[in-house]
Amino acid sequence: MPAADAEVLIVGAGPVGLLLACFLGRTGIPTILLERRSSRGPGSKAIGITPTSLEVLAELGLVDRFLARGVQVRSAAVHADEDARPRPLARLELGGPGAAFPFILSLPQVDTEALLREALGRWPAVRLREGTEAVEVRQESSSVTVRARGPSGGETLLRAPLLAACDGAGSPMAGLLGLRRRVRRFPVAFRMGDYRDESGLGPVAHLYFTRLGSVESFPMPGGLRRWIVQATGAEEPEPSFEKVEAQVLARTGQRLDPGGRVWASAFRPERTELERFRAGRVVFCGDAAHTMPPIGGQGMNTGFADARLLARVLERCRRGGENLENLLALYEPYRRTGFRAAARRSRLFMGVGTLRAAAPRALRNLLVPVLTRPPLSRTLVGHFTMVNVPYSTLSGVLARERRLRLAGEGQADEASGG
Ligand SMILES: Cc1cc2nc3c(=O)[nH]c(=O)nc-3n(C[C@H](O)[C@H](O)[C@H](O)COP(=O)(O)OP(=O)(O)OC[C@H]3O[C@@H](n4cnc5c(N)ncnc54)[C@H](O)[C@@H]3O)c2cc1C
Repeated sequence: MPAADAEVLIVGAGPVGLLLACFLGRTGIPTILLERRSSRGPGSKAIGITPTSLEVLAELGLVDRFLARGVQVRSAAVHADEDARPRPLARLELGGPGAAFPFILSLPQVDTEALLREALGRWPAVRLREGTEAVEVRQESSSVTVRARGPSGGETLLRAPLLAACDGAGSPMAGLLGLRRRVRRFPVAFRMGDYRDESGLGPVAHLYFTRLGSVESFPMPGGLRRWIVQATGAEEPEPSFEKVEAQVLARTGQRLDPGGRVWASAFRPERTELERFRAGRVVFCGDAAHTMPPIGGQGMNTGFADARLLARVLERCRRGGENLENLLALYEPYRRTGFRAAARRSRLFMGVGTLRAAAPRALRNLLVPVLTRPPLSRTLVGHFTMVNVPYSTLSGVLARERRLRLAGEGQADEASGG
């Protein structure tokens, strides 16, 4: 059998594949990163980087570059309408006492990807092949082989002991391996518009819960602002600046200037979960393994937690003394638990914002001011910023494993009268 081309193959240089490559590069693990695109389109999906992800970037020595480019969102203002116009309902400060990063960093995903790609230059262990698509995957007992098609159509076979599939929602790798995915579509849809910001709302996230539907508004770097409006009607929403402008005006009173249009998009949220996050020597990370409603901004951040845990497992094994199989076996159950926790929160945030019936809206409007005041606000902030999503670190996972083992040994002792 020919020698391996790398220790790890990564398919997909979205934010999750890039972050994983940075971790592996820093440890000196020979890695090949395949990306089928050779250029990026306009616009950007994710903009919110949570405090936990900022800590991950700090571990890599990259956080200062991110902070220099992004906008620090330190609070969220909630508005609700019980009569004609929305009135302020509550304000949530996003930083807890002692938090290293008491804010969510707003940075377009294209910039996140660009910064991570730039950082890869520091670590020669990683070879990035853009314009190269993985078109076939085959598993052997101790390795995995990918057929990769390069920019000019030429094909090569690449072999490694492990493949990380970071190939995004609907993962082609999962399809090639015949894995199924549970899909749940939600009966709401959203339109999104990025605009030059003339709102005067400052570096604060604004959430409008109105009878006509929700509006979320986030500051972005470069003097821009993102507006996300709940679409009305059952049809598939298409991107439309005009509809965003009309609905923002009707629901918030803010008049968006058509001259400040930058990018429009539309989406219908889905929750998808791959039946296995690991199949033999292929490990799935990020949207390839799971997706959740973007309202709540947790998809990319959850993928970052996957990448961090997988990287830690591989680093430990490389340092020696650990069995790869034993550590890899922990990846699936813990990341599934972490994903499900984040997905529940995303769904909750989306559900709370999009209530239309009068009675639940009235109850929500009563509860929100209570939940956003101490001490309950601490839990809410933890949910909002994801700092209390479990099992994103290997040390946390191993500590729980130790507790479970000790509890198991205790029960065995009791049963044997010891
Ligand atoms: C409107 C919207 C707003 C969002 N906002 C947020 C937010 O604020 N915060 C947040 O955390 N998340 C947010 N998300 C979710 C976030 O965008 C995704 O979770 C994130 O992009 C997932 O990253 P990824 O690297 O797993 O996948 P992707 O970004 O999809 O990257 C996958 C990459 O794999 C490549 N690829 C695929 N197949 C192959 C192949 N066969 N060979 C080679 N390359 C391949 C693709 O070209 C792509 O570059 C939002 C999503 C949407 C839709």
